[in-house]
Amino acid sequence: MGSPSVAIIGAGMGGLAAGVYGQRAGLRTTIFEMHDKPGGLCTAWTRRGYTFDGCIHHLAGCREGTPTYRMWEDLGAMPREVLFPAELTQVETPDGKRLTVHTDLERLEAHLLDLAPGDSRPIRRYIGALRAFTGFDLFDAMTGTWREWARLLRPVPTVIRWAPLTMRTFAERFRDPFLRQAMATIQYDWVDTPVMLHLNILAGGAVRRYGFPAGGSLRFAQSMADRYLALGGEIRYRTKVEAILVERSRAVGVRLADRSEHRADAVISNATPHATLHRLLGGKYLDDRLRASFARPQDEVVMGVHVSFGLARDLSREPHALVLWLREPVKLADRVRDRLDLELYGFDPSLAPPGKGVLKVLLDTTWSYWSELGRDRARYRAEKERLVETILRLLEPRFPGITGQVEVWDVATPLTTERYTGVGPGFVAKPRWGAVLSARPMAVPGVKGLQIVGQSAGGAGIPGCAAMGRNAMAGLQKK
Ligand SMILES: Cc1cc2nc3c(=O)[nH]c(=O)nc-3n(C[C@H](O)[C@H](O)[C@H](O)COP(=O)(O)OP(=O)(O)OC[C@H]3O[C@@H](n4cnc5c(N)ncnc54)[C@H](O)[C@@H]3O)c2cc1C
Repeated sequence: MGSPSVAIIGAGMGGLAAGVYGQRAGLRTTIFEMHDKPGGLCTAWTRRGYTFDGCIHHLAGCREGTPTYRMWEDLGAMPREVLFPAELTQVETPDGKRLTVHTDLERLEAHLLDLAPGDSRPIRRYIGALRAFTGFDLFDAMTGTWREWARLLRPVPTVIRWAPLTMRTFAERFRDPFLRQAMATIQYDWVDTPVMLHLNILAGGAVRRYGFPAGGSLRFAQSMADRYLALGGEIRYRTKVEAILVERSRAVGVRLADRSEHRADAVISNATPHATLHRLLGGKYLDDRLRASFARPQDEVVMGVHVSFGLARDLSREPHALVLWLREPVKLADRVRDRLDLELYGFDPSLAPPGKGVLKVLLDTTWSYWSELGRDRARYRAEKERLVETILRLLEPRFPGITGQVEVWDVATPLTTERYTGVGPGFVAKPRWGAVLSARPMAVPGVKGLQIVGQSAGGAGIPGCAAMGRNAMAGLQKK
């Protein structure tokens, strides 16, 4: 009898990590991926020499010696070069006010005090909290061992003080009107996100734990896929799994879209829990808790629209992200907006031809808006064109001449994401906090030998999903 075999559905972060750790443990694994590339949401696409990145802003685990870094090393994902932009973002108003969120904390403190001397108290507290956060990383706790959780005990007082705040309530601590407005938007313009996430990321940037892998998200995923193949794994691209085969309450393989079957001793699904339970298992294994989890699909899609431009313009001196407040509110897609959230990729020259640059505007949106539009291809296309025209008009004052510098543009909507990754409406199940914090894969009641991994199963970002894939494989080996 040979070593046990595992069928893995999907080459996203969870699936690839499961595959690599499975091969390292001597198992026989096969990954079935419906798309023609690895990575899932961790992806990029190329248009006329420009790479439009669809994912990474900040990757945890870029500092040698940390548990997350060690995981990237196991997975072959860590690139030769990691880039560390000098600022988290920059906020700008039409009347010329500018806040640069430097990753150098001393510089940031001096800049904030310069902007708002009357706010010295909240500024010093903020910088103090950032300094406390440089000593640990929430993602290292998820990817590491209990020892990492024990390290979190040290800054407990800081955590307790800051845990209740969102970016919005944090910004209310400042009296200066510009800082009150600007500080709420400095973490991806997510005003309702816990400030802890921001402290974690900015402090991580300060000590180079958080960075951007040169070449971007797809190259990062491709490196994992290469490591997997080098370990003897097999990826079958353009191969959609239609069903998980269950016999005597045990997963015994998968059925593919061409109706062929692939038998295995266990199955790991990197498809969303919703797709795994409802489609791949035909809704047969839902208990009340699971039914309740999927009762209300979430309509809001954070960063759901990517409007990308390949520009005949050098962006290497621009900040890596910008929040641009507009002169007046403008309707863009499904809502009226008073600011734009931009990513500028001039810091990574590999993403554009020499002397040129990539700029992207990210918009939060809703599923319902785009799925309704998607029924009429002409209207869908017209809406994309309208978005491009309006955004260029809004960018002109900040980037004079930009409209004439566009060599290529691309608009990816939630429908695009669904088509390429299967991550569609209803993918956000009720959070399983224990699972999120321990990167524990999701078991299916009544089916042995099946685990669900990935973001919708509670994987937190790229490291959390990869750790979940690793833990799923470790779990299968114990059985
Ligand atoms: C805009 C954006 C920015 C982000 N920025 C960051 C960041 O800066 N840092 C960070 O850590 N995280 C970030 N994330 C989150 C991160 O990208 C995700 O958490 C992670 O990539 C999800 O991995 P996953 O394991 O859930 O797999 P997924 O990405 O969901 O991939 C699943 C794979 O399974 C395949 N699949 C699904 N169903 C089937 C089937 N039936 N048959 C065959 N194949 C199938 C899909 O094609 C896909 O390749 C960002 C996400 C987005 C959308």
